[in-house]
Amino acid sequence: MPLSDIQDRIAKEETRVGRDVGSTHLIAVSKVQPVERVVAVLEEGHRVFGENKVQEAAGKWPDLKAQFKGVELHLIGPLQSNKTRQAMGLFDVIHSVDRPKLARAIARISDEEGHCPKLFIQVNTGEEAQKAGIMPDDLDAFVVECRALSLPIVGLMCIPPVEEEPSLHFALLAKMARRNGLDQLSMGMSSDFERAIAQGATHVRVGSAIFGDRDYG
Ligand SMILES: *Cc1c(COP(=O)(O)O)cnc(C)c1O
Repeated sequence: MPLSDIQDRIAKEETRVGRDVGSTHLIAVSKVQPVERVVAVLEEGHRVFGENKVQEAAGKWPDLKAQFKGVELHLIGPLQSNKTRQAMGLFDVIHSVDRPKLARAIARISDEEGHCPKLFIQVNTGEEAQKAGIMPDDLDAFVVECRALSLPIVGLMCIPPVEEEPSLHFALLAKMARRNGLDQLSMGMSSDFERAIAQGATHVRVGSAIFGDRDYG
């Protein structure tokens, strides 16, 4: 589906639910996509992209950033502590802060480098064993801890369980954000970004609907 169709669908949903058109940031998720498809979207003028692996992003984005000015890169996948410094140099926004050890590593590196990306805390709203994210019961204390470290936490992120109605998880995330005085919400993917906007998403992460299916072969 062309990028403009996704932008139209976002604008329609913003209008339908009474939000300002343009208030949702569209993160084009380019992981695993052939570079020609990514370049095509850059040539259409889009500049906000998401990747879920540090290594993969490090292999393609420095060149693309040199070619296209004004790229804003978001890390939307789990971050291992030993890749923190590299990730902080490469990404403008990290959506997957989910444990005290990682928060402390980011704080230390940000002191050393004098620079820190914007941060979202990932919440495991479905409390799934295999999924990253802080457990909902631990969130409020973790926000306090991150603030004590002076981390620039701007909002919350979630990936709902595949088998469940995502709107319930989006609403839960919105409630947790409000309770903690956070106003940005990273939620919604190709299959459910309109539902996420209806629940207050400020950032939707859309991959296959823009670029086509990912070929993992
Ligand atoms: C891959 C990915 C997306 C995009 O998924 P699509 O279904 O292709 O839109 C969004 N968020 C995260 C965290 C992802 O890993």
